[in-house]
Amino acid sequence: MKVPLLDLNAQYEPIMNDIKNEMEKVFATHAYKLGPQVKEFEEEIQKYCRVKHAIGCASGTDALLLALLALDIKDDDEVITTPFTFFATAGTIHRVGAKPVFVDVKPDTFNIDPDKIEAAITSRTKAIIPVHLFGQPAEMDKIMAIAKKHNLKVIEDNAQGIGAEFDKKTAGSIGDIGTLSFFPSKNLGAMGDGGMCITNDDELAAKLFQLRVHGENPQYYHKWVGLNSRLDTIQAAALLVKLRSLEKWSEARRQNAEYYYKNMSDIPEIQLPVIHKKAKTIFNQFTIIAEDRDKLLSHLRSKGVSCAIYYPMPLHLQECFSYLEYKEGDFPIAEEMTKKVLSIPVFSEITKEQQDYVIKMIREFYK
Ligand SMILES: *Cc1c(COP(=O)(O)O)cnc(C)c1O
Repeated sequence: MKVPLLDLNAQYEPIMNDIKNEMEKVFATHAYKLGPQVKEFEEEIQKYCRVKHAIGCASGTDALLLALLALDIKDDDEVITTPFTFFATAGTIHRVGAKPVFVDVKPDTFNIDPDKIEAAITSRTKAIIPVHLFGQPAEMDKIMAIAKKHNLKVIEDNAQGIGAEFDKKTAGSIGDIGTLSFFPSKNLGAMGDGGMCITNDDELAAKLFQLRVHGENPQYYHKWVGLNSRLDTIQAAALLVKLRSLEKWSEARRQNAEYYYKNMSDIPEIQLPVIHKKAKTIFNQFTIIAEDRDKLLSHLRSKGVSCAIYYPMPLHLQECFSYLEYKEGDFPIAEEMTKKVLSIPVFSEITKEQQDYVIKMIREFYK
């Protein structure tokens, strides 16, 4: 049996005609640049994420970059984030000239440990970027309290957590700015790249709209140096159609996860994902901590089960960040996670037979 990590064919099959119809509208007008579907999609995301403003852009990475620019984070500023995340979270901090300052994660949720944040705050700290890793929000109550106390901005990197909640609040709507990614493997994936900033702050929203078009307003007059980073109308057209299924897809992921909890909790060599009691996750990934991880991975792959390691290298040890002078042992939990985590298939359309097969192959390995 073959079990992929994501089955785009199964995802698109039922909605391909609707997507084609929505795209035909774009082809009929050739409004490729910020056409009406972009505005429409932004409005739908505002409702879905329960925020006042949504600003489409070219990728989740650009959304982070735009958020940092909007908050005027620049040279000599420090931004606190997690070393156990996708590269873009810290890459964009570096890109605006600021310094990424890492804080270790918690071994159960993989998210930044709020209790370790204050020790990393200096007079230069301007912002915190928590990441809602694998679809589970970080502890936003504690993070917002720390930010308030120290007068720091908060950007929620919600690339993996669209629709997730913490304390009944939508992920991405709690900090100053939240960012979304529509990379094809995210719960809401475009047919290419796309991203978005969401915020409840009118002034920040106006600045973000301006920053995505080189900071110009009116045309050819620039108050700020922005980016060229629009969400393509073609992508917005596809995303508009796909957004209608998002809640159903995320619920299916939660049920698939439930099936793993029910049928795999007794394997002593693995730990299933721990969800914080205040968090509602969307299971962008189902990430286990596994003994003998690398051998388990080879075993599963040889049996046709696709798995992935998110992430094999913590950011503080990346070559490009050697100038920050972190060393091995600085963030022991993040480092341990990189050696033990394994994400197994949990996509919406996976069948029970496929899940049973995954479970059987994991059991077989540890026998
Ligand atoms: C995917 C991702 C991004 C970047 O999104 P792109 O759309 O690929 O640029 C940023 N942060 C995290 C945590 C991600 O998973």
